[in-house]
Amino acid sequence: MDWLKHLFADTSAELTPWTIFWNAIGWLGNAVFFSRFFVQWYVTEKTKQVVVPVLFWWLSLAGSFLLLAYALFYDKHKVIIFAYAFTWIPYIRNLIIHRRHKEAHLSCPDCGKLCPPDSNFCSFCGSSLTGTTAKQPA
Ligand SMILES: [Zn+2]
Repeated sequence: MDWLKHLFADTSAELTPWTIFWNAIGWLGNAVFFSRFFVQWYVTEKTKQVVVPVLFWWLSLAGSFLLLAYALFYDKHKVIIFAYAFTWIPYIRNLIIHRRHKEAHLSCPDCGKLCPPDSNFCSFCGSSLTGTTAKQPA
């Protein structure tokens, strides 16, 4: 059980439910935050171009909140607190921009598929999109 103590507490701390809980939160935060790189890498390889999917920003937000909670309520290390205290600002801003861009897509009146903003013709059926307004938010 020594490995458990090393994983869930520093060597000087006693292994208590409180210690185990907050170290689990810290490790979960690390796993969530690190997993975003695999998501971005996978999508980039799949599309053969550099893409930052919306899931990347959600994983960034969730991972940084878990790590901030760990730092605020357990570790209390000012460097770690500062490292994650403000990262949510660009993550939320990117999620807002992503949503606005998605809402600006045009819905084809003939086939119903979504086309990029400012398209003149549907890329699926070729119908004219002139006069088509952006899709309404769900
Ligand atoms: Zn169409």
